[in-house]
Amino acid sequence: MSKPAFKRVLLKLSGEALMGDDPYGINRGTIERMVADVAEVAKLGVELAVVIGGGNIFRGVAPGAQGMDRATADYMGMLATVMNALALADAMKHVGVTARVMSAIGIEQVVEPYVRPKALQYLEEGKVVIFAAGTGNPFFTTDTAAALRGSEMSAEIVLKATKVDGVYTADPKKDPNATMYQKISFDDAIAKHLQVMDATAFALCRDQKLPIKVFSITKPGALMNVIMGAEEGTLVHV
Ligand code: UDP
Repeated sequence: MSKPAFKRVLLKLSGEALMGDDPYGINRGTIERMVADVAEVAKLGVELAVVIGGGNIFRGVAPGAQGMDRATADYMGMLATVMNALALADAMKHVGVTARVMSAIGIEQVVEPYVRPKALQYLEEGKVVIFAAGTGNPFFTTDTAAALRGSEMSAEIVLKATKVDGVYTADPKKDPNATMYQKISFDDAIAKHLQVMDATAFALCRDQKLPIKVFSITKPGALMNVIMGAEEGTLVHV
């Protein structure tokens, strides 16, 4: 078998990826399938840092948060990511993968706080590090947390696992002629107004020359293909 294309990656999992076909929350079968994919990659010796979203439980800008103070709603969103991180770490334990959850907001009785050197140490020890509570600040997203932690951990790439299989020329649901990019530069993605990540996350990756791979988490084998450098999803490059 050939060698993985990366030594250290930052995997961004959206909260919605945990829902499966359910309207909200965590779908057991879905999380188990996802974790099985992650375990395969971890067993290859690839260092895995994970940022988990919270959109399956709470989103600061969602209709349910209307009328609330935005910062308060965002803190609720961050707490939702902590719940997902705990579920993910627990599911990993069941398949023999050691994971550590680190939170950007102080919640020590539940998970340890984010301390950069410690996170780096865990990665070097072969543990999966799950970053919870996003950046720890309201008005940001977990995509931005992925760009930030990816930069801090010196990851080679941000792997943005979504429900779609890549970045398209147009919305494939509306335009039957839409085609998927195999790769595209940051500059072209901006010029063509393509939505890869939110603007803050995208700008940080671009500044740090941190490439992004967008791929489908629901497609069997897709994560492994990405890790092995096979053709999969869309690469956004410098
Ligand atoms: N959030 C935040 N700051 C962060 C990351 C997340 O305030 O640094 C809040 C925000 O309300 C967001 C929610 O947490 O809507 C869940 O995160 P996100 O929407 O990024 O999750 P995903 O779409 O990946 O499931």
